[in-house]
Amino acid sequence: MNDESLVALDRQHLIHPVINYHAHEKRGVTILESGQGAYLTDSQGNVLLDAFSGLWCVNTGYGQNSVVQAGEAQMRKLPYATGYFHFGSEPAIKLAAKLVEITPVSLQHVYFTMGGSDAVDSAIRFIVNYYNSTGQPKKKHFISIERGYHGSSSQGSGLTALPAFHRHFDVPLPNQHRIPCPYAYRSSQDTSPEGIIAESVAALKSKVEELGVDNVAAFFCEPVIGSGGVIVPPKGWLKALQNCCNELGILFVVDEVITGFGRTGTMFACDAEDVTPDLMTMAKGLTAGYAPMGAVMMSDAVYQGLADGCGPDAPVGHGYTYSAHPVSAAIALEVIRLYEEGLLANGQAVARHFEAGLMAMLDHPLVGDARSRGLLGALELVANKNSKARFDPALKLSERIATAAYKNGLIFRAFTDNVLGFAPALCYTKEDFDILFERLKRTLDEVLEQPDVRLAL
Ligand code: PMP
Repeated sequence: MNDESLVALDRQHLIHPVINYHAHEKRGVTILESGQGAYLTDSQGNVLLDAFSGLWCVNTGYGQNSVVQAGEAQMRKLPYATGYFHFGSEPAIKLAAKLVEITPVSLQHVYFTMGGSDAVDSAIRFIVNYYNSTGQPKKKHFISIERGYHGSSSQGSGLTALPAFHRHFDVPLPNQHRIPCPYAYRSSQDTSPEGIIAESVAALKSKVEELGVDNVAAFFCEPVIGSGGVIVPPKGWLKALQNCCNELGILFVVDEVITGFGRTGTMFACDAEDVTPDLMTMAKGLTAGYAPMGAVMMSDAVYQGLADGCGPDAPVGHGYTYSAHPVSAAIALEVIRLYEEGLLANGQAVARHFEAGLMAMLDHPLVGDARSRGLLGALELVANKNSKARFDPALKLSERIATAAYKNGLIFRAFTDNVLGFAPALCYTKEDFDILFERLKRTLDEVLEQPDVRLAL
């Protein structure tokens, strides 16, 4: 089928995620055809450096033959096994054990999902069940962070704190609350690491006090706030929040959907600070995008609460047809083997080129802030570096930058508020980073030459 017919069919029938529907109909789809290493090729034959790993998920890079082989072998042997009726499969069991081995010691049990949103939704359901089962039925309030992202399920979208996910959807729910984001670049408070940490801890304490500790179930956070603009809290922030939750007696849930599997320099972001959450959600890098899979992990105490709460005969009514899918599990096992065999170490080694490249971009007239941890980073563009004034949204600067970058052979994520997000694969070389920053600088220079942008500075 030629490109034109595909574009027409897409326009007529395919609803895309998180997009303005009429704008998409007008613009039409860009069809991606193949990938190798850090590079993608589209249906017009353009070769593009992917600096966002798909949607921060293809941490291994594209075209990893051993992953394809692992998936194919499992598909031939047994493409599906349900986890219902006490059935299971070898790859799923091995993967559960492997995840317990590589995650913080507090996490002992795994429940598999198809992605991150249903991992968060499962975590919420398990937490509600846990408190009902352990005689604390009033604990039903959830707290998350402004600009946080926890997926787009019916309840998880309420923990997500981004306007587009709330508008028209009747969330957040009355039992979902937020504390301020640790956004140093845009904070008017004390922006020293100690100041940022103290502010988050104080905000959490006061929110729990306001709601009454007997009514609060859990606090959810990302170690680096991803979809909210790659906001990097200072070292020690996550641990301080864990300590605060432990003191208050509420469950501490770390959402590592983006940060897991080497993205921030350690296998999990929790590892860098010896954080031991009660529950952890993960997806993306788990299978590096080669198949859909997510997971929620929990401590033994939470698991035992759920298990004892079942009573002698009744099942826990939470499950998906594709929980612990054997093909996804076989793929995840091979992907994790690749991280352990060298990709994690490569990611750690090349992260300095990434950081140095981002920091050098601070000299550019459009760039107000540069921030990163490991291979997760962002540039924030501003109309005025002193006042940090944002560009007029009517300029549609992010869209224009993404379009210009694509023409220059580069893909990253241009958020609507002019934050450019980067999540290069762990297989990047120094040369890939040289190409990334040359193309990025060329793109920003071109956009800067456009008269209305110049005028806005
Ligand atoms: N949590 C976080 C931190 C995420 O970044 C995402 C996805 N970007 C999700 C949850 C939801 O994952 P999914 O898109 O796989 O449903």
